[in-house]
Amino acid sequence: MTERNQARKIAFFGGTFDPVHIGHLSIAKTLVSLFDLQSFHFLPAFHAPHKPNSKPTSGYHRFAMLSLVTNDESKISVSTLELDHAKSRYSFDTLTELKTMYPHDRIFFVMGADSWMDIKTWHRWEEVLLLTDHIVVSRPGYEVSFSHVTEAVQNRIVDLRGETGNISAMKDPKIYFTDAVHFDISATEIREDIREDDAFDRTDDVPDVVAKYIEKYELYR
Ligand code: ATP
Repeated sequence: MTERNQARKIAFFGGTFDPVHIGHLSIAKTLVSLFDLQSFHFLPAFHAPHKPNSKPTSGYHRFAMLSLVTNDESKISVSTLELDHAKSRYSFDTLTELKTMYPHDRIFFVMGADSWMDIKTWHRWEEVLLLTDHIVVSRPGYEVSFSHVTEAVQNRIVDLRGETGNISAMKDPKIYFTDAVHFDISATEIREDIREDDAFDRTDDVPDVVAKYIEKYELYR
């Protein structure tokens, strides 16, 4: 067996998670089982560099909500890597650091279809896509296409849409596309709904424990 075959498969899911919702959670759980991952880490950003106009809720609150919903999940946890830097950070730098932190493991960077379609706004986007494995999850309302990326990136694409069985990751780094999760839900809509309607039933969109946290700390009002 080669070293690469023995490597653990570790996923990192970057985002703002403001707040974490059932779409994010279902992505984590589904990908752990679909790709037989050893661990899955939510990676909340201090402030996404490609979203300069939207100031997120304090990282403490976003981290707390993520911790609450992952505490009973043995393979799913929250990484403070980006929050610890206390300023906005490029995914390129984070992925480069992760590669040095886990030199013998295989890193899967996870994003939704909207991020994929926006990828060219990311700093050193082509290098980001070629640095590690990636998993792109489809998202209702976002058509996925491949024509906006370079040939080097296109050559890495493995389109698994339509497949639901377990996926054995290929030997070399790839960019996997899956539609195994389909949730029409967005954190922006959740924040807007809470702001506009006190009586909004948030438990449809966020786990109960997050709904309680939002209530207790009067977030998004
Ligand atoms: P917002 O609506 O405020 O942009 P969001 O719901 O997209 O928030 P983020 O924290 O910005 O949440 O997203 C983190 C990652 O999760 C991104 O890569 C995004 O594409 C992905 N994502 C979020 N919601 C979904 C969803 N319903 N289906 C697939 N991917 C999603």
